[in-house]
Amino acid sequence: GKGLAVFTSGGDSQGMNAAVRSVVRMGIYLGCKVYFIREGYQGMVDGGDNIEEANWSSVSSIIHKGGTIIGSARCMDFIKREGRLKAAFNLVTRGITNLVVIGGDGSLTGANLFRQEWSSLLDELLANNKITKDQREKYKYLHIAGMVGSIDNDFCGTDMTIGTDSALHRIIEAIDAIVSTAYSHQRTFIMEVMGRHCGYLAIVAALASEADFVFIPEAPPSVDWRDKLCDKLEQASYLALVAALACEADQVFIPEDPVPNNWVEKLCKRLQQERKSGQRLNIIIVAEGAIDREGKPITAELVKKVVVENLQQDTRITVLGHVQRGGSPSAFDRILGCRMGAEAVMALMEATPETESCVVTLDGNQAVRLPLMECVRRTKAVSQAMADKNWDLAVQLRGRS
Ligand code: ATP
Repeated sequence: GKGLAVFTSGGDSQGMNAAVRSVVRMGIYLGCKVYFIREGYQGMVDGGDNIEEANWSSVSSIIHKGGTIIGSARCMDFIKREGRLKAAFNLVTRGITNLVVIGGDGSLTGANLFRQEWSSLLDELLANNKITKDQREKYKYLHIAGMVGSIDNDFCGTDMTIGTDSALHRIIEAIDAIVSTAYSHQRTFIMEVMGRHCGYLAIVAALASEADFVFIPEAPPSVDWRDKLCDKLEQASYLALVAALACEADQVFIPEDPVPNNWVEKLCKRLQQERKSGQRLNIIIVAEGAIDREGKPITAELVKKVVVENLQQDTRITVLGHVQRGGSPSAFDRILGCRMGAEAVMALMEATPETESCVVTLDGNQAVRLPLMECVRRTKAVSQAMADKNWDLAVQLRGRS
């Protein structure tokens, strides 16, 4: 059978185990010899016990576990050709020429580079008498299929990344818990949620929890998004809104008209109005990458200072941190991982030498294959647009093409 290996790389997320399980079982089902590579690229470079043959039962009872049982790491060695040469040796000597990478855009970029270099790496191994002529010929093509595991939902080309839905569940649970205590004491709570430079978790959590205010990186300072969104969707019910948002990333990042940089005033007005109308608590959600129109960070601390100084409200901060990535994956992420894993293996089995490396993504309710580098390029273009303060472009690039 064909040699196929699966590994997880970069930050972990819930649902990665479901994806690993699916790759292993689909691979075995289709007659492949399937391997785990532990600790991401580091395990590929180091070889030895890090590359281990998997069997049907080695992925039993993992679908409900958070994180990744085969470990994930960042690896400096793989950035250098020398490291990739060692990795190539470790794969060829085990007959592995099909790789499933589960990670972020960095991990996918590394995989693509590895594939481009594959031929020259094998030439070098042959020249150094590390591999035989037969091995050079037999394993001359490397095929790559990627999947994106990330709680941030920050990858272009997919509606959802593996882990986002579980992180949202965790965030909503935490906000619900805080609402009950905030209500008793007439407090204002500021919750910082993860997402790096992507406001998806923050904006969807804000919708689902009836937050009074949300700060996201893509629409600084994001003042009246809720009104706009509701107008746009003709006052659709809350549940319908959230459901629509949760499966269609392009509707979440609505391009907003540039707003003047007076968020302090608007925030205070909003909070005052809420209290005057009898509301006993306020919830403000701050994405960890939130910024103002000048690109300066809007942190939970800063928002607290503003609220305390202007309104003298009893204000507390909760930074959710790694709780968001932990715990068991939601049903959605388990199924997403399963479906993407199966599709990735199918893609590899159908690949010809000319087939481009692909990333398996979710389009509506379909697992589809997209050219890996095109999605990575678009994802990097979003970062660039954000750095250039061109938020409309960032929003546009994040949406469906
Ligand atoms: P996350 O979104 O969780 O950060 P990521 O995959 O983007 O995931 P990175 O730290 O960027 O995380 O990349 C993970 C690993 O992939 C790196 O430690 C490195 O080993 C490899 N890698 C990333 N970029 C490259 C590259 N340009 N060339 C070779 N390898 C790379």
